[in-house]
Amino acid sequence: MHLSDEILNKYVDNELSAEELSEVSEHINVCTECLSKLKAQRVVEHQLKRIETFTLSDSFTNLVMTKINVSAIHKPKKSYFMRFIFSFFALSCLAILIFIFANMPEVNNNGDYSKWFDNAGEFISGVFSANQKLFSQKTISLIGSMLTIILLATGYFIYDFHKRFKDHINKLG
Ligand SMILES: [Zn+2]
Repeated sequence: MHLSDEILNKYVDNELSAEELSEVSEHINVCTECLSKLKAQRVVEHQLKRIETFTLSDSFTNLVMTKINVSAIHKPKKSYFMRFIFSFFALSCLAILIFIFANMPEVNNNGDYSKWFDNAGEFISGVFSANQKLFSQKTISLIGSMLTIILLATGYFIYDFHKRFKDHINKLG
């Protein structure tokens, strides 16, 4: 008599008693038909276990949820910080450009760009040589308004960042 499917299942799941186990072993040694059925059963069992651990594991689901929550907490923090840094540099560059153009000496506008660059170079070296009109009233007021713009923008972004971060913390609580 061949081994029943139930016995084969129990064999694969290690649920047989010592007595049953020795009977099955004896039979498998002499019956290739049951041996191949057992091998097939093992393969199916192995695949099922893999699918189960992959889809139904609670710890796996929890792990994913934890990772999602962690990234949800950290992502805004990072992006607002990066936005703040980027805005700060963009505004600084803009302010410097405004400063340079506002102080630019008059240029003969006949399409002579090399002359424009010459003038720009002269002007910039003039600013940094510090013996010219660097501390004139106009320059000081320009630097002052430039710094004010940067400070206001920085203040706004710090305020905005804190507000959003607080809102986020409150949502979590
Ligand atoms: Zn058999």
